[in-house]
Amino acid sequence: MAKTLYLGYHLSSANGFEAMGREAISAGANTFAFFTRNPRGGKAKDIDPDDAKALRSMVENAFGPLVAHAPYTLNPCSDKPNVREFAHICMVEDLERMEYLPGNYYNFHPGSHVGQGVDAGITMIVDLLNDIISPSQNTILLLETMSGKGSEIGGTFEELAAILDGVKQKDHIGVCMDTCHVHDAGYDIAGDLDGVLDAFDRIVGLDKLKALHINDSKNPLGSHKDRHACIGEGTLGLDAIGRFINHPALAGLPCILETPNDFEGYKREIQLLRAYDAG
Ligand code: FE
Ligand code: FE
Ligand code: ZN
Repeated sequence: MAKTLYLGYHLSSANGFEAMGREAISAGANTFAFFTRNPRGGKAKDIDPDDAKALRSMVENAFGPLVAHAPYTLNPCSDKPNVREFAHICMVEDLERMEYLPGNYYNFHPGSHVGQGVDAGITMIVDLLNDIISPSQNTILLLETMSGKGSEIGGTFEELAAILDGVKQKDHIGVCMDTCHVHDAGYDIAGDLDGVLDAFDRIVGLDKLKALHINDSKNPLGSHKDRHACIGEGTLGLDAIGRFINHPALAGLPCILETPNDFEGYKREIQLLRAYDAG
């Protein structure tokens, strides 16, 4: 039997969990993403346990796994100790909060080494992860594939593999592949998807791939830019993205749109991608 195509988008968590679930359903989504707190960091709102419980029962009935996103300003491998400390505190708190929604994913950007070098950066990321992952937690952390802009770590599959290699709690760590980011990093998912997925499997392992961010790109292959475009309006194009989400090796993984859209736009893109015939 064909696996379910889980498609959704990045929602605002301003009105709580249950409101997100309702909005996602009304957009035709069967998964979604949300920031665990203000995307620029800051203090997290208290969780209302009843609100989390309401979403939990919706997840059981209507959704595949959810893909929460850490604030994108976190930098676990900053050269400033207070910035690294903030990443540590924030991720510990977020993982505690994720326990209200057990069995889902917590995606984060590995970080930027800001001139300290890739190896030093990877060591700091691994140390942080080994510090914060508890064997009893019910959340899997996901490293996002990055475009490699600036001194970002995670722009190559080798860097992601090196982080995974250093993490002791192997069952609690995986990867989320972002189509805009890998394309901007130089992986030709439009021209040679099989080749890219083979390379990923060889270097990281397809069993580590748990979620997908689905975005078109405003920039050419290998540009190291990271600017998302709406589906079909960028350098990847609808066909490349349609083939990607329907590739047998990726079947059943939650697909999250992070395109520049409003509610109606996301609803349209979900319809467009569900209707896409890869045959
Ligand atoms: Fe991201
Ligand atoms: Fe992303
Ligand atoms: Zn991005």
